[in-house]
Amino acid sequence: MRTGGFPCRLVGCVRTFQVLDQKSMTALAQASTARTDHEVADHDYHHVRLADEHAYMPHPRSRQKPAGGTP
Ligand SMILES: [Zn+2]
Repeated sequence: MRTGGFPCRLVGCVRTFQVLDQKSMTALAQASTARTDHEVADHDYHHVRLADEHAYMPHPRSRQKPAGGTP
């Protein structure tokens, strides 16, 4: 399983931008920026960020289920 990279979001493009230092938020941001730059430069693709997509989470937190929500 390959981890730690930002794959290009264009279908059919296999470019992946590796994060040089998994523990570094700066490296994460640089890889993300490099990926976005590639998408714009090579595909003229501008990804529309969702409101809650403000940061890449290497370790996504599991969401707590609402208490008493048993169907
Ligand atoms: Zn691409």
